[in-house]
Amino acid sequence: MSEHGAISKINLQERICTFKEVSRGFDEAEALKEAGRCLQCANAPCSKGCPAGIDIKEFIHLIRGKKYLQSLAKIRESNSLPAVCGRVCPQEEQCQAACILIKKNDPIQIGYLERFVADAEIASGMVALKLDLAANGIKVAVIGTGPAGLTCAGDLAKAGFDVYLFEALHKTGGVLAYGIPEFRLPKNIVAHEVEYLKRLGAKVECNFVAGRTQTLDDLRKAGFKAFFIGVGAGLPQFLNVPGENLNGVYSANEFLTRVNLMKGYAFPEYDTPVKVGRRVGVFGAGNVAFDSARCALRLGAREVSIIYRRTFNEMPARKEEVENAREEGIKFHLLTSPKEIFSDNNGNVKGVICLKNELGAPDQSGRSSPVAIAGSDFGIELDTVIVAVGTSANPLLISSIAGLKLNKRGYIEVNEHMQSSINDIFAAGDIVSGSATVISAINQARLAAAAIIKKFGG
Ligand code: FAD
Ligand code: SF4
Repeated sequence: MSEHGAISKINLQERICTFKEVSRGFDEAEALKEAGRCLQCANAPCSKGCPAGIDIKEFIHLIRGKKYLQSLAKIRESNSLPAVCGRVCPQEEQCQAACILIKKNDPIQIGYLERFVADAEIASGMVALKLDLAANGIKVAVIGTGPAGLTCAGDLAKAGFDVYLFEALHKTGGVLAYGIPEFRLPKNIVAHEVEYLKRLGAKVECNFVAGRTQTLDDLRKAGFKAFFIGVGAGLPQFLNVPGENLNGVYSANEFLTRVNLMKGYAFPEYDTPVKVGRRVGVFGAGNVAFDSARCALRLGAREVSIIYRRTFNEMPARKEEVENAREEGIKFHLLTSPKEIFSDNNGNVKGVICLKNELGAPDQSGRSSPVAIAGSDFGIELDTVIVAVGTSANPLLISSIAGLKLNKRGYIEVNEHMQSSINDIFAAGDIVSGSATVISAINQARLAAAAIIKKFGG
């Protein structure tokens, strides 16, 4: 860690050609030094900035006393996935933005402290676990194993329910496994969280597509009393510009799944070749776009560009990751909208025609809207295009449930207890709110678990 609290990262040359985690995090001396800077404010504004309401002041206090497992237990009272959130939460907009020391432009690095205690537990091999759980024998099906499903399953298992997690893919973790790359979130961290759940007694069944392998009615007949749906919003959206079906155009979802879940980055050790050309263009500027761009770079592309219709100020991706991408040499075409992807004679991508934009009045998102400048057409030569412009709800499961109310955008409608229009079905995460964040999925899942415990716990 530098004088000013900058976190050390692995060497840039190593970084851009491997999938090793970029940030090293704190070692013990750095964590103690950072915790020692905390003012232990009486009203702890940091906690008000945390969507999960973690008792940040207290967990930092416990680090100061070197009580790392107790510190972690304090975090786990409000957040079931600290090793994950310590790495991927947008702390700079949440707890750290609320820290009193932001006035000096030097807030406590709360995310890195959270990561430190979570990693300390993994390194110690010790897990604070209540094994004398009083089983109530009530079967609950948790569908989807992203942060929402894992959180709900954990809370229900601790309350004694007989929890079954059903996952469509061959691996658990949802976006944490198939979306966010190894260099931001090592997969052993996700595996550790799933292992923790299994030790609590939860059963996990992969390759189970709810709505197809079995319907909820089948599961009801098999004795399940309540259902939690946390299936995310993984259906890719496209821009609907000409050329999106050419060879060399990927949806970010497909690209990242091949690279991360199917370990395309370890080809030929794993049998998943991922073809990236020399020049890759990524449409979009959220976390998904940046993850795709940085994966393409690591897979050998010579030049990778983010093509975005607004400016740096409006980018939805985490600031830390935008900075990492800039350091790694990702290029930017800002105020630029793709108009048409064009090909060579064999139907392979050759480039994209774009329009230049200027910023207009704020739109519904509150950000300045991009307005195309007539006649500003220009071309960018590319041989691979990755489309990362958002996702929507996959209808496979939800359309199989008669009477399930959806909102106008196609997501599950729930009340304040995350209960759907059907009495025994609860839902949380991206399938309720649309693409959001890990911590919001966790929060909603905890509300759903509490409601299930109250209603079905006897
Ligand atoms: P998901 O994580 O999508 O998990 C849903 C699971 O349900 C999946 O495993 C899916 O296979 C399974 N499923 C779907 N249908 C079925 C079915 N019919 N039967 C059984 N299983 C099914 N958020 C942050 O806070 N910080 C970040 O840095 C960040 N980066 C991101 C990067 C990428 C590439 C992506 C895609 C998202 C990112 N997000 C980030 C957003 C965050 O990951 C999501 O908001 C969060 O994962 C939503 O959790 P979830 O549990 O609702 O759904
Ligand atoms: Fe510590 Fe900042 Fe929270 Fe004050 S606001 S208790 S300094 S982390």
